[in-house]
Amino acid sequence: MRTIRSVGELRAALGPARRAGSSIGLVPTMGALHEGHLSLIRRAREQCEQVVVSLFVNPAQFDQAADLERYPRQELSDAAMAAEAGADLLFAPGIEEIYPPGFATSVEVLGVSAPLEGQARGPEHFRGVTTVVAKLLNMTMPDVMYLGQKDAQQVVVIRRLVADLNLPVEVRALPTVREPDGLAMSSRNALLTPEQRERALALSRALRAAATRAEAGERSAEALLAAGSEVLEAVEGVEVEYLALVDPETFEPVERLDGRALLAVAARVGGVRLIDNETLAPAGGQRTRGKAIETCSA
Ligand code: AMP
Repeated sequence: MRTIRSVGELRAALGPARRAGSSIGLVPTMGALHEGHLSLIRRAREQCEQVVVSLFVNPAQFDQAADLERYPRQELSDAAMAAEAGADLLFAPGIEEIYPPGFATSVEVLGVSAPLEGQARGPEHFRGVTTVVAKLLNMTMPDVMYLGQKDAQQVVVIRRLVADLNLPVEVRALPTVREPDGLAMSSRNALLTPEQRERALALSRALRAAATRAEAGERSAEALLAAGSEVLEAVEGVEVEYLALVDPETFEPVERLDGRALLAVAARVGGVRLIDNETLAPAGGQRTRGKAIETCSA
């Protein structure tokens, strides 16, 4: 695996593969890699001939300077982990490569970016995400981009971006990878003390509590949210930003679980912002059948 710093080098490195008609997969990350990221890289390795992992802590998507400052950075171990998972190229540009002096353009998806994360973090968050993703897609020109369902709203916002701008890439979202006790893996988990980490389990447990009620036949959003809130409120030191049951495409709130809906939570534990989500389906509904094996064709 090669580590590359500039867009020019990236394009030169991918040129032969592109001309040969080889497929290219992109896994965008902000580093501090964990099994969640590695699941995306491994899937890209299975499906694509060239695998590019990008590592860029994007200041434009942070709404709080302190969060950006303490975001974990560990490029050397990230490079080793990305290589081990099968990446061919690690694109780790400096800030000036992405935002050179005079940079003045942004890409904004309206609508689905407004609620939940958009409301909690402000419009600059998703504007930062969509601007950097549009740039990474133009720099890499992948056939497939791999994202994690852990950031469910980000997946929908990016799918909208890709559709609206006719970007020639397929977006594939993979399931959230969890620790054995249920905590969703996140780069920010490294910032938690052991005691805070224990409290952070309230997020996944709240989602599970609501999912269990749904599996038992409960369809009222109010009752499902109450089941989740009860778990969150029982743990001290968990400051909930939102717990919401929303349509998985529009992110509008739903009143009843008549079809699949997304239960999403955001909370701060010891000042560390964590998010998680789970898809709920009405009890007795049809299970979705497994999809055919996908490849990454150029
Ligand atoms: P990040 O480095 O946090 O920007 O994440 C990079 C990509 O990894 C995004 O598409 C995330 O959704 C995905 N990701 C982060 N955590 C997980 C996880 N626990 N399971 C699966 N994918 C994840």
